[in-house]
Amino acid sequence: MLLNQEIDLLESKIDKLFDLQKRHSISLRKSTVHERLGHIKRLREWVLSHKEDIQKALYADYRKPYTETDITEIYPVLSEAKHFISNLAHWMKSKRMPTPLTFLGTKAQTQYEPKGASLIIAPWNYPFNLAIGPLVAALGAGCTAIVKPSEMTPHTSALIRRMIGELFDEQMVAVVEGGVEASQLLLSKPFDHLFFTGSPAVGKIVMKAAAEHLTSVTLELGGKSPAIIAEDANLKDAAEKIAATKFLNCGQTCIAPDYVFIPNSKRDPFLQYVKEAIDSMYKSGKKGIEKSPDYSRIVNERHFNRIMHLLQDASEKGAKIEIGGKSIPEENLLEPTVLVDINPTMLVMQEEIFGPILPVMVYENLEQALALVNEMPKPLALYAFSNSSRTIRHIFEQTSSGASVANDCALHFLHPELPFGGVNNSGIGKSHGVFGFLEFSNQKAVLEQRIGFTAAKPLFPPYNMAKKKMI
Ligand code: NAD
Repeated sequence: MLLNQEIDLLESKIDKLFDLQKRHSISLRKSTVHERLGHIKRLREWVLSHKEDIQKALYADYRKPYTETDITEIYPVLSEAKHFISNLAHWMKSKRMPTPLTFLGTKAQTQYEPKGASLIIAPWNYPFNLAIGPLVAALGAGCTAIVKPSEMTPHTSALIRRMIGELFDEQMVAVVEGGVEASQLLLSKPFDHLFFTGSPAVGKIVMKAAAEHLTSVTLELGGKSPAIIAEDANLKDAAEKIAATKFLNCGQTCIAPDYVFIPNSKRDPFLQYVKEAIDSMYKSGKKGIEKSPDYSRIVNERHFNRIMHLLQDASEKGAKIEIGGKSIPEENLLEPTVLVDINPTMLVMQEEIFGPILPVMVYENLEQALALVNEMPKPLALYAFSNSSRTIRHIFEQTSSGASVANDCALHFLHPELPFGGVNNSGIGKSHGVFGFLEFSNQKAVLEQRIGFTAAKPLFPPYNMAKKKMI
């Protein structure tokens, strides 16, 4: 909690930054592809030459393994920057639109102008990637940006501040650190676009604040992404992919499979494969998972307690811990934990878990599972495992989600040509590549008419009988 005096100081800093960027954003309307790519290339160079600093910051925040930082924080940012470098000139081009007969002589185009001054609010779970990835899109679209990293990962937040300070003038990109107070002061300003990544609950607060100024929003939210395993699926393949994605980043991934649906008859062999996958990823010899260099920690005590409460609630309502369950509170560590005997009244089936707990629900027929998925808010991702393309198609057609992935998990996030985002409760708007560029751009309709001529002239008043008969 900040003191009143600190809030006043922060407010006046935000006011100044906002005014500075708002003014600068107007001059950026005519920024060239060369200028925009200049920013992105320098950002990319900085990331490449400070890999170790990024790895160390993430490790200090929640013992994220260096390789995991390479794969999930550094690589996606580099790849997004490279994709912009290769394609921005093409995306920025005005598009000539066809001319219907009634518009003969006119010229119609869509042009992509920068929306202007943008605000990027990032979460803690991929704190570098989810602050800097959207920044690449903002720069590509020609916007200024204030970046607000998460207060829960202070080392990464400080590194982002240093990086932006070394790379940009404050009129172009600036960082405001802090928690809810900083976020809410920022949200009170009339930005031209808000790009928020975080929980659905805070997404609603952001959208309400945006409504005050009718600011456009991109909301990248969370939710419960199901993994549905069909009767004919390859169980070993499904178990390995689900376990690897679920326990990556200690389960703190927006597109982690939140829970599994499996035919009753396949449950036990599936659980055996999950156990083998966990052992092979994190256990060497007789050493416990706490010794694994490849398993990160729950971000802080508050989230550790929240996750332990989910586990306790499930146990009290009859769930059984099939795999894992051991915790070390001083380290905010919970082993990869798999629960069975699940029912929908348990909190693990009602809230986004966002931690290393995997509930495995059984079903007697697929329609039952699909009906339960459809009773819940629409998820960010839905994973279906089956050997039959008909079954996959059926699952995808009967459900709604931000992304549908067959026989894999989370891979869509890394695909440069696919839009990334949710639907309703899991998000509004899309990011990545051209989709991110479009979020930060205003698609402007531009129509040019010849002087002294308009096909609409016969429709000008006075409206006589002849005109009334025209339609
Ligand atoms: P969060 O919503 O608590 O916080 C996100 C950001 O909002 C932080 O910067 C925080 O300081 C700020 N914030 C928090 N409370 C606020 C308030 N009352 N008013 C204004 N700002 C506030 O989310 P989190 O805990 O950092 O991240 C976890 C959530 O984010 C999960 O739901 C996860 O699924 C989601 N997520 C989504 C994506 C995606 O791409 N769709 C990616 C990562 C995480």
